[in-house]
Amino acid sequence: MKYFSTRNSKLNKTFDEIIIEGLAPDGGLYMPKSWPKIDIEKIIDDKNISYSKLASTIIKNYVGGTISESELESIAEKSYKNFTHKKIAPLKKISDNKYILELFYGPTFAFKDYPLQIVGNLFQYYLKKKQKKITVIGATSGDTGSAAIDACKDKDNINIFILHPYNKTSEIQRKQMTTINSKNVFNIAIDGTFDDCQNIVKSLFISNDLKKITTLSAVNSINWARIISQSVYFFWAYLQCGVYNKKINFIVPTGNFGNVYAAHISGIMGLPINKLYVATNSNDIMHRTLENGDMSIKKVKSTISPSMDIQISSNFERQLFESLNYSSSSLTSLMNSFIKNKKITLDKNVLKNLKLYYKSKCVDDILTSETIKEFYDNYEYISDPHTATSLNILNEISNKDINISLACAHPSKFPKSINDSIGVLPAQPRALEEMMNIDEKFIRLKNDMDLVKDYIIKNI
Ligand SMILES: *Cc1c(COP(=O)(O)O)cnc(C)c1O
Repeated sequence: MKYFSTRNSKLNKTFDEIIIEGLAPDGGLYMPKSWPKIDIEKIIDDKNISYSKLASTIIKNYVGGTISESELESIAEKSYKNFTHKKIAPLKKISDNKYILELFYGPTFAFKDYPLQIVGNLFQYYLKKKQKKITVIGATSGDTGSAAIDACKDKDNINIFILHPYNKTSEIQRKQMTTINSKNVFNIAIDGTFDDCQNIVKSLFISNDLKKITTLSAVNSINWARIISQSVYFFWAYLQCGVYNKKINFIVPTGNFGNVYAAHISGIMGLPINKLYVATNSNDIMHRTLENGDMSIKKVKSTISPSMDIQISSNFERQLFESLNYSSSSLTSLMNSFIKNKKITLDKNVLKNLKLYYKSKCVDDILTSETIKEFYDNYEYISDPHTATSLNILNEISNKDINISLACAHPSKFPKSINDSIGVLPAQPRALEEMMNIDEKFIRLKNDMDLVKDYIIKNI
C-alpha cells in the first residue's frame, strides 16, 4: 500500500512516513492509492471477534508491511484496554430500525479517543523504530485536543502543542486538556476562533524555521491513520446490529468531515451503506455544499455544539478529490480558488456524485435543544448537543433500512446545555468529577503565528 496526496498524485509514500508527517508538504491530504476490500462475511462468521481484533483486521490492509500483523494486533489491544464499556462502542436500539452507536467510553469521553489512542501508540512504535523525536501540533475546537493530549502524554519521543480558541470550548473540554500534568504537553489558548487556530497550525507546518529544528506531525483528522482507525466502528456497528440483509444509513454530527468521511470509506471497503446523513449545526457550510454546491465560508458562530463550530472542513478535500476522479491538478486549482475567494460553487457533475452518497441537514441550537428534550421524554435517553444534531435526523427518518446515529460525546461534558434543555444534570463519570479540582496549565497568546512559533521553539 502506497500513498499520494490530494494535491500531488505523483507521490509514492509509505504508511510509516505519512502517519508521522500528517499533512503532505504540498498542503494536501494523504490518500491511499487503492481501496482494499474487507471480507465482511468472514468477520460476521467470527462470532467472537473483539473490537481491537476488528481494528487490526481493517488497519493491516493499509500499513504496507511497515509493522507485523502480530505487533499491530497487540497495539490495538493495548489501545482499547482501558475503555470503560465491554463492547468498547456499544450499539443501543431505540426503535425497530433505529439505533445509536455510543462512542464515549474512552479516557476523554468523546469519539476522538477511538482513533487517537491507537494512533498515539502507532506513533510511538514507528518513532522508536526510527529513533526519531517529533513535535505534534494541532488545533482543537474542543474534543480533539484532549483526546490527542491523552494519547501522547508521557510518550518519550513526542512533544505535543495544542491550540484552542480562548474561552470558546466548554469548561470541561478545556480542563481535560489543561489539567494533564505531563512535561511533554503544552496548551496554547489563542485569542480567536477554531479556524484561526487551524490556520496557525497550517502555517506552522510550512514554516521553515520549525522544519529546521524538528519534525512536525499532526494528529487532527487530517492524519490518514486517524481516518482509517475511525472506519472500524462503522463495521463494528454493523456487526452488532445483527441484520445482514439490509442497507445501513449512518447519521453523523459533522465538523471537520473526518467522521463521516471514515463512514464513506467503510462503504468503499464493502460495508453495505445506502446513505450518509451529514448533520451540521448552524455552521452549515457542509450542508449548503452538499445541498446545492454552495461552498462559501461565513463567519463562525458559537453554538452549543462547539466541536462542530467549523467553517473549513478539512477532510472534505479527500471527498472532493474522489469526486474529481482523483485528479490532483483539478483539486489543487479548486482549493486554491476556495482559499483565495473564500467560496467556490461546485460543478453539477461533482454535486451529482456527492449526492450519490450524502444527504444533509442543518440543525440549529433551538432544534438541538428540542431534540435533547424529545429523546429524554420519549426514550429517557440523555444525549450531548453534538449527538442531538444527528438524533434530530434519526427521529424524522422513515425508511426500511437500518439507521444508526452516532453519539459522539458523553452528555456530562456539556452539563449546561443539557440542564437548559431538560432541567436535569447528566450523571458525571468520576474521572471528570475529580478533574474539576486539578490546577490548570496553559498559555494565552494573540492570534499570531510567530508568537506560537517562538513559544514552540523555546519549549522543545
Ligand atoms: C470532533 C467532533 C465532532 C465533529 O467530527 P468531525 O470528524 O470533525 O466531523 C462532532 N461531535 C463531537 C463531540 C466531536 O468531538
